Amino acid sequence: MAIDMNNLFTVPTVPEFAQDNFDMHFIKADRVMLVLLSIQWLVATFITSISYLTYSYGFISGGLITVSLFVAYRYFKGTQVMRSLVAVGMMLFSLVFIQQHLGRIEMHFHIFIAMAILTLYKDIVPVFVAAVTTIVHHVVFNFLQLYEVSLFDMPVMIFNYGCGFDIVFLHAAFVIVEAFVLGYIIKLQIEYGVGLNKSEKEISGLNQELSYTSLHDALTGLSNRYSLHSQLGLMVANANRYKRKFAVLFLDLDHFKNVNDTLGHGIGDILLVKVANKLKLLVRENDLIARIGGDEFVIILNDIENNQFLEQIIVKILDEFRNEWVIDNHFLRLSVSIGVSIYPDDSKDIDELMKFADIAMYKAKAEGRDQFSFFTSNLNHKVHEEVAIANDLHRALDDNEFVLYYQPKIEIMSGKIIGAEALIRWIHHEKGLIPPISFIHIAENTGFILKLGTWIINETAKMISRLNHLGYNDIHVSCNVSTRQFQNLHLYSDIKNSLLQNNIDPALFAIEITESVMMEYLDVTLETVKKIKSLGVHICMDDFGTGYSSLSYLRQFPIDSLKIDKSFVDDIVQGGNNDHILLNTIIAMGQTLNLHVIAEGVEEAYQRDYLYEKGCHYYQGYYFSKPVPEEIFFTLVKNNR
Ligand code: C2E
Ligand code: CA
Ligand code: CA
Repeated sequence: MAIDMNNLFTVPTVPEFAQDNFDMHFIKADRVMLVLLSIQWLVATFITSISYLTYSYGFISGGLITVSLFVAYRYFKGTQVMRSLVAVGMMLFSLVFIQQHLGRIEMHFHIFIAMAILTLYKDIVPVFVAAVTTIVHHVVFNFLQLYEVSLFDMPVMIFNYGCGFDIVFLHAAFVIVEAFVLGYIIKLQIEYGVGLNKSEKEISGLNQELSYTSLHDALTGLSNRYSLHSQLGLMVANANRYKRKFAVLFLDLDHFKNVNDTLGHGIGDILLVKVANKLKLLVRENDLIARIGGDEFVIILNDIENNQFLEQIIVKILDEFRNEWVIDNHFLRLSVSIGVSIYPDDSKDIDELMKFADIAMYKAKAEGRDQFSFFTSNLNHKVHEEVAIANDLHRALDDNEFVLYYQPKIEIMSGKIIGAEALIRWIHHEKGLIPPISFIHIAENTGFILKLGTWIINETAKMISRLNHLGYNDIHVSCNVSTRQFQNLHLYSDIKNSLLQNNIDPALFAIEITESVMMEYLDVTLETVKKIKSLGVHICMDDFGTGYSSLSYLRQFPIDSLKIDKSFVDDIVQGGNNDHILLNTIIAMGQTLNLHVIAEGVEEAYQRDYLYEKGCHYYQGYYFSKPVPEEIFFTLVKNNR
């Protein structure tokens, strides 16, 4: 577009959003030029008629120029081509006027004025096109004059005092200098936004648009993160002055990713716009809504007299979200998790308030989503504790504070221990025993799980080797592997190396992968699982039944066993209506695929018996033993055999 040629002066490119304004401006300028050309046509006709008692020269030449530009306007309006043609047309009019006055030097002023008028375009190109046209016609007409050519019975004249190339060069130099000066002025105009548009009104409109786009989210039109921050500053000042409170609500749509993944981003975007509009209806005029991330919204509720009022609004929001959302014939179920922090109760610092609301939102998510949670200093305490744990993990590994406990896996028919699951424990030198739920997710978030995972795999292999030395060659040991480890290339080589170094039968080594892990990164995981499987290692799908559990995708995985999630086992109660269709189906599914089916969390004899009856032949659980330290496990095995 226009802007490329303008690189001569490195004119700033017109921002995308202003491009429309610019196009409009170009078209308007084109029209102004057509009017000016028409006026000149009249003037040229008039001059010819009074000077030569005929109007033909001015009328015909002026008409040729003007009419062709009107035709060009139809096809090229608003474009660089049009502007260039207009520039040529203007210069040809200079020629007409000069010729009409038989080369009178004063008529050359027309050239300079016409070039100045062309700056109306706010584009450098037409100015330079005009300069080049002028130089070309001066050279050509200088020749015509030299050879005494006539046109319309008039001698062709470009200079009334005789011709010569020295004068042509002089004129060319003036024209070139003017082109550069005008070009520079245009560059400044664009750079400083002066007269970007024809009228002041349009300029301010553009400026408003500029500030609008930098302060608003393009998709929903809500405030963006940047403007939220500055507006929060104002709110703090207001709240201080009038001794008022305000609340920061952090909203995150539950499972929004699923919408994007299954229905596409188009639908996802429409949904976000709908959510934005819904939120606008739910809050008051002087409250603020911002979209600060993909599916993250922040609402600031002003002047909250008491928490009860606040809860009412929140409950209303939660309720509204639960209604069915219809988009393009898709019926969507949606919910939202909300975290709340309050100024000045929770903090007087804006960033901290936002952080606290975020923390509270995560708590709402962790507690099952579709709910709200207020920030409490307790929560803050928990966060601090987690940070402390994250910082302590490396030291703990170096200080050998981690140990693996082993929970026996039992063959129901024989009552024999056929294997064990390795479960990690952290024996902290000050805090005592820390269960895995308190640190595994932190290790996963910080990436420490990669290092810890390598250690776990190695310890598991060593355990198998020790069992072998004790004479037990038929007890397998499994260890748990988390998602993060699957995203790393080392998992396969870690396992391979551990098997080699400890010289153990790969068939005795097993890994447990949760169903959700397998689903999440299906292609990456599948490839890694296949490689690991090729080592001869046993693959067990953990927590089975909690995810998608479909037969079709089960088939894709080279798994050897299924572990039925504890929640299904919990459902088996004594004397209850024990028709557990889902559980039965899962067991049947495992049998169809020729997999070992094992149940976890078995605490009662009747649970074990029910499972056996339905075709699940293995179990682990407190009924037989809790996870125990290695030495105790050895004793269990010894007594069992
Ligand atoms: P999981 O893999 O599902 O492990 C089974 C959990 O259920 C273990 O909890 C175990 O102690 C517990 N459990 C076993 N039998 C019974 C029972 O009869 N009743 C009850 N109420 N609970 C039973 P634990 O050891 O606290 O581990 C919790 C989770 O932490 C594990 O769930 C696993 O996801 C994770 N985890 C544990 N160790 C490791 C590890 O070495 N690496 C990784 N990545 N994750 C681990
Ligand atoms: Ca497990
Ligand atoms: Ca489990």
